[in-house]
Amino acid sequence: MPEYWVSDINKAEEGVAQLEWAERNMPVLMSLRKKYSDEKPLRGAKIAACLHVTKETGVLVRTLKAWGAEVYLAASNPLSTQDDIAAALATEGVCVFAKKGESEKEYFWAIEKVASIHPDIVIDDGADLHSLLHEKHPEMLNKIKGGAEETTTGVVRLRALEKEKKLGYPVFAVNDAMTKQMFDNRYGTGQSTIDGLLRATNILISGKTIVVAGYGWVGRGIAARARGMGAEVIITEVDPVKALEAVMDGYRVMKMEEAAKIGDVFITATGDKDVITWKHMEKMKDGAILANSGHFNVEVSVKDLEENSISSRELRRYMKEYKMKNGKVLYLLAEGRLLNLVAAEGHPSEVMDMSFANQALIAKKVWTEPRLEPKVYKVPLDIDQNIAMLKLKSMGIEIDELTPEQKEYLDSWKLD
Ligand code: NAD
Ligand code: SAH
Repeated sequence: MPEYWVSDINKAEEGVAQLEWAERNMPVLMSLRKKYSDEKPLRGAKIAACLHVTKETGVLVRTLKAWGAEVYLAASNPLSTQDDIAAALATEGVCVFAKKGESEKEYFWAIEKVASIHPDIVIDDGADLHSLLHEKHPEMLNKIKGGAEETTTGVVRLRALEKEKKLGYPVFAVNDAMTKQMFDNRYGTGQSTIDGLLRATNILISGKTIVVAGYGWVGRGIAARARGMGAEVIITEVDPVKALEAVMDGYRVMKMEEAAKIGDVFITATGDKDVITWKHMEKMKDGAILANSGHFNVEVSVKDLEENSISSRELRRYMKEYKMKNGKVLYLLAEGRLLNLVAAEGHPSEVMDMSFANQALIAKKVWTEPRLEPKVYKVPLDIDQNIAMLKLKSMGIEIDELTPEQKEYLDSWKLD
């Protein structure tokens, strides 16, 4: 039996049923699993992974194992673990260290635990594991053949390491693959954030004013889905091009200080800190709801909520009521952590199918090809296009192909 740290190992059976359901909805990853299972391209590889411990991650981990890898898994967020999945994976031989609701200390202990295996491949979501390896275990970096990063902010952190010439192994920016960010960040977060909002509050979205901070892939997805359910959506931005795009997409765009006065619900999606602070909160309507679907619990200043309130209580699951010193009440969802992964189940399997097909193929590439220079790399276009083709095929959709004449025509600079 492998070493593991989970909430309740007796939940394994429930977890296995969830994994079966996810596998049915992840046809791309499943077809790749089948294709390379005999070949075992990851034979001998020790993989340290820090990912949300969800049913979709379970399908990825099962695939990496089917390809011959040994997998060690920690959660990439203290609140996103699905305990039944952690239990199921533990019984299947994965060294998993994750409990929903683990403390900050336990969270970093678990990441340290997977770092300490001297991994060959590192798969991370948010770069906490990459950062910990660089800060605390520089002696391990040379042995690491390569890594991958799942999310936007993690890639930003790795580029900062690369810029300072401190990156110790090559890393693929899985987030930046087209088949990842255009679908996972946009449609995945769009739907699962609304799902989290509904599970935490059960409010009627129709007729509400919803303020979305950030109009990147995630912000666009949330805004589109909120509008689709009848909300009036306001966007706040710091990038003039993105702000203009939001205007032309038909949204109202204004400063957060103005939006603060009229919003019913606020959702941050920036990867930044202090997007909503007391200077905004003090202007908000009584009963305003605050949430984050971007990165850490710093986008909405929880500290400012605590400091400017006289009392607080857990009114519903994942919903905390703050009685503010100015007499108003504000509600914070999911402790300011990712609403979609804490109050709901994260992205649906259909979209993680493509994100994790990228992760699996990148792990295979890293292990079967010569070690690259320590830099941040793009996912190769052929992997991206192959995943899109497999997804289309799984949906029964065929597309046209260029004829040789069309290829020549499109590549030519000549007038005729
Ligand atoms: P992005 O870079 O495409 O978009 C972020 C946007 O936020 C940018 O347009 C930027 O100008 C804007 N911004 C930055 N600071 C701001 C501020 N103070 N006020 C208003 N706007 C501001 O990134 P993305 O892919 O949309 O991801 C956004 C965040 O969501 C990242 O932290 C990413 O890691 C995270 N993410 C979360 C999930 C999830 O499941 N919840 C999924 C994917 C990505
Ligand atoms: N560790 C940070 C990073 C942001 S998480 C944090 O938790 O605060 C954002 C990432 O979660 C996305 O890039 C997305 O690919 C991933 N994600 C969303 N739904 C998921 C799911 N169902 N299973 C596993 N990962 C998921």
